[in-house]
Amino acid sequence: MTGFHPPEFDNQLQHLQKTIDRERLARIEAEASANRSHRELTVCKRELLFMESVAAAANQAESLREAIQFALEQVCTYLDWPLGHAWLRSGPASSPHLSSSTLWHSAGFAAPTAFCQATESQRYAPGQGLPGKVYTSRHPLWIARIHDNEPLLAQRQAADSGLRSGFALPVPAGEEVAAVLEFFNTEPGEPEAGLISLLSFVGMQLGRVAERQMARDRAIHDAFHDSLTLLPNRALFLDRLNRALLRSLRDGDDNLAVLFIDADRFKIVNDSLGHLAGDSLIRQLAQRLQQALLSAGENAPQDTAWGEQTLARLGSDEFAILLENIGGATEAVRVAEHILGLLQNTFAIGSQDVYCSASIGIALAAEHQAADELLRDADLAMHRAKRLGGARWDLFDQAMHASAFQRMSVESDMRKSLLENRFVVHYQPVVDLRSGRISGFEALVRWNRYDKGLVFPNDFIPIAEDTGLIIPLDLWVMREACRTLTAWHRDFPHEQPLTISINLSTRLFSLANLAEQVGEILASTGVNPACVRLEITETMAMSDANRALQLLTELRALGVQLSIDDFGTGYSSLNYLHRIPANVLKIDRSFVSQMHESEECMQIIRTIMMLARNLGMKVVAEGPETADHVERLIGLDCDFGQGYFFSRPVAEPAARHLLETAPFART
Ligand code: C2E
Ligand code: MG
Ligand code: MG
Repeated sequence: MTGFHPPEFDNQLQHLQKTIDRERLARIEAEASANRSHRELTVCKRELLFMESVAAAANQAESLREAIQFALEQVCTYLDWPLGHAWLRSGPASSPHLSSSTLWHSAGFAAPTAFCQATESQRYAPGQGLPGKVYTSRHPLWIARIHDNEPLLAQRQAADSGLRSGFALPVPAGEEVAAVLEFFNTEPGEPEAGLISLLSFVGMQLGRVAERQMARDRAIHDAFHDSLTLLPNRALFLDRLNRALLRSLRDGDDNLAVLFIDADRFKIVNDSLGHLAGDSLIRQLAQRLQQALLSAGENAPQDTAWGEQTLARLGSDEFAILLENIGGATEAVRVAEHILGLLQNTFAIGSQDVYCSASIGIALAAEHQAADELLRDADLAMHRAKRLGGARWDLFDQAMHASAFQRMSVESDMRKSLLENRFVVHYQPVVDLRSGRISGFEALVRWNRYDKGLVFPNDFIPIAEDTGLIIPLDLWVMREACRTLTAWHRDFPHEQPLTISINLSTRLFSLANLAEQVGEILASTGVNPACVRLEITETMAMSDANRALQLLTELRALGVQLSIDDFGTGYSSLNYLHRIPANVLKIDRSFVSQMHESEECMQIIRTIMMLARNLGMKVVAEGPETADHVERLIGLDCDFGQGYFFSRPVAEPAARHLLETAPFART
């Protein structure tokens, strides 16, 4: 503006200019401020979006690996950093270490092979290297400048690869650190507090996934492991066996064996020393077996490939071993013998040294065999080893299968038959050799087995003993025999009342309340106890001398007689024999049947007779079949004879008929 203008105008102009300037400044200020908050808002929004997506992924992740892979990508994208990688905690709880998860994320950056390879081949103990430091401190760690000899990165390759800064964060899970994530940038960079807390958030979210997975793993572990020994349980064993069988079928080899191991004396330890001692024995046994497998592997012959093995605890004192890729039966037997060898050393239970041998059954995989069948076959072989006295191994064969099948069907038929009253008692007369009169009978059980006709005791008593069915059976026979004798006493009153001999099985003999049960049967059948003769075998009387003596005394106190059956076949201690409160000795049939051809047998019978006389016992000779046998027995002054010469065991009506006709009486 030129020319004259009044001074007021100038003033106004200046004022206007100032106002404009002020307004412009204010506008710039306002714009800058608007820009600033817009920018802040955007950063904040990005951060929120990032946090949201990490948290959502953590909620949905099926596995820790999946969640880690996602987080590596998210963090790299968010920071615009080119490389991320994760370490996982591994190894046993007592000595953990960090090894590469092999999970990487690289964005817009050719992943440096040398660095990646070096990283993956590395493992860090707690406190070592970048991951080990973060693992121990449980805090993120920032490396602002990576140089050639960065001590936290064992890999010189990091610097070579153009990586200039990095940082790592822990994934805490409960007391543990489950993983460590690390990220690298090609620019050097200083740590930012906000960023570190944001990345800690990522660690926490992944930690939730890790905790979930750990709980799931623990539940799965518990469902498939035995809590006492921490060994795989039956379910896991069968699963591994199944897989191994499938594998061997696919590969066309069947070098696979199952060892079924059962401790021989566990029950005794458990009963006598208590459950804690039993638990301790089982744990030590598990360790011993584990050790046996290790050393069997170390000592394997050069030409055998020693493959995978699984040791499992199946139940109380039962273990199983799966041997894969073995050279056949010889190798399985070698392992079994090695185990038996190691079991010869005692176990320390408290202050006691305890021996615990085992019975081992071996079964080899054959084509088309299912896991449970293979295990069952090994179990059968184990049972045979046990029946043969234990502390030994046995190998399954097909005959074993057939006999096991037969035993099973006998057992189930017997159970039914007990309910359906299909057992009958036959009676064999015991004849007074001097007068020829019947002095009594022995009750002998027979089984009317459906379409198989009448079955004799030797074909089912051993199975009944094994299964425990002998207990109800023996008590039933006793009741039946006592009832019959009561009727005979009523119908055939003799000066010397008839006796009834009843066999007691080994199982029944070890029944805790046997005397009480016998007392009840005597009372309820109203029989005269003095005429009841309980037969126990020589072996039963001798096996647990103290207990036998106590029990026999209790039985005698009921007023019954006792008889020692099959005498001469066991190993009697003469010193002990005179303490047994028995009334009768029964000479085993094997001596009587050979009397006529063996002077030795005659001599044995003479000796037994003398022994019995001295101990004040009567003698029954079992099994005289001919007149010659009877003559010789009379010549030896034997009291009684019970044999086919007089009569086979017969049903009650026929026995009654014998009593009516007295066919053997001399006068
Ligand atoms: P045991 O108690 O020694 O019974 C005698 C066995 O010898 C009977 O066989 C009888 O039939 C047989 N015997 C008798 N005289 C002769 C003979 O002259 N020649 C031949 N060859 N044999 C003769 P059984 O009835 O087959 O019984 C066999 C075994 O089964 C019995 O031997 C006994 O140990 C057991 N037993 C039988 N019944 C029962 C029972 O109810 N309970 C229990 N626990 N065991 C029983
Ligand atoms: Mg008998
Ligand atoms: Mg006998």
